Amino acid sequence: MKWVLLVLRIKRRKGCEMMQVLCPWCGVRDEDEFTYGGPAHITRPTSGGDAPQQDVSDEKWASYLYEKDNVKGIARERWVHVHGCGQWFNLARDTVSHKIHCVYKMGEPCPVLTPEGDPKNRND
Ligand SMILES: [Zn+2]
Repeated sequence: MKWVLLVLRIKRRKGCEMMQVLCPWCGVRDEDEFTYGGPAHITRPTSGGDAPQQDVSDEKWASYLYEKDNVKGIARERWVHVHGCGQWFNLARDTVSHKIHCVYKMGEPCPVLTPEGDPKNRND
């Protein structure tokens, strides 16, 4: 597993505080180069069969599209480096403090975090 621990860094620019985000491909960049893409690890509902999405009920599909958790604390999120490499990736961010606890590429397993939000060593 290749995830990266990132300590929140805030820098001042033009009188504003700016969060910095670690792109897994480009390194640390200012947050205004990125766009939030919604919660991570959301799976499309399926009913199996040949046309799996067409047989899903309207209620299930509407829930998939519009009902999202509003996490207070550590949330798993999708982000894209829109003004950089254009790659999507996941991160774990505290929605209260904005501290980013870890960053990991799409398709990589979700790091296990301690109750404090730090990535847990697999050997623990
Ligand atoms: Zn990038």
